[in-house]
Amino acid sequence: MELQPIFKTKEQINSEAESFLKKYHPSKAIPIPIEQIIDIQLQIDIISIPGLKDASETLDHDIDAFISSDFRSISVDKYIYDKVATRYRFTLAHEIGHMILHEYLYAQFKFNKMDEFITTINEMPLKERGMVEWQADEFAGLILVPREFLEEKFKKALTRAEEVLNTSFKDSPDFVIDVAIAYLAQDFAVSADVARIRLERDGLKEKQLQ
Ligand SMILES: [Zn+2]
Repeated sequence: MELQPIFKTKEQINSEAESFLKKYHPSKAIPIPIEQIIDIQLQIDIISIPGLKDASETLDHDIDAFISSDFRSISVDKYIYDKVATRYRFTLAHEIGHMILHEYLYAQFKFNKMDEFITTINEMPLKERGMVEWQADEFAGLILVPREFLEEKFKKALTRAEEVLNTSFKDSPDFVIDVAIAYLAQDFAVSADVARIRLERDGLKEKQLQ
């Protein structure tokens, strides 16, 4: 069995994310309706499972969700599904990242249930698993916070934050950026952490300070 994941650059992952959005969400309106894309267009069942996260912890993993190896269903921890909207959205986007980027890996397996999934991922060395997870996280960030909108929305969020705080980004960058990130997180319906990481990846904070 060949479990070696293929290395992909940030740019390669970005072009996969852009093709995905072009195909499944051509209007590009934000926030990206990831749940509807999965449910209606991709016809993948989203299954909420009580205690999935806790059960994964007893097996020494910490899993919010997983996509079945045939890509027909995504099982999500019920608490996250019900209560943590931004994390739920990111989790869905991450699992779709596996479908788009890692079909060649998933094709070698058969899993449908959490314990089967965990047995499978335990076969993959930690370093390789880390790379696969990193790629799915990058993809998720890029489909929920598309590069083409981020800069414009960031500028607007900064202006709004400067007005509310009555200071300038150049004078108090850390203070202003925290508030701007909160606005961005609302715009894209993601957590502040995801918004912050996307800004860093695109180098936008430095660009605005120049
Ligand atoms: Zn994953």
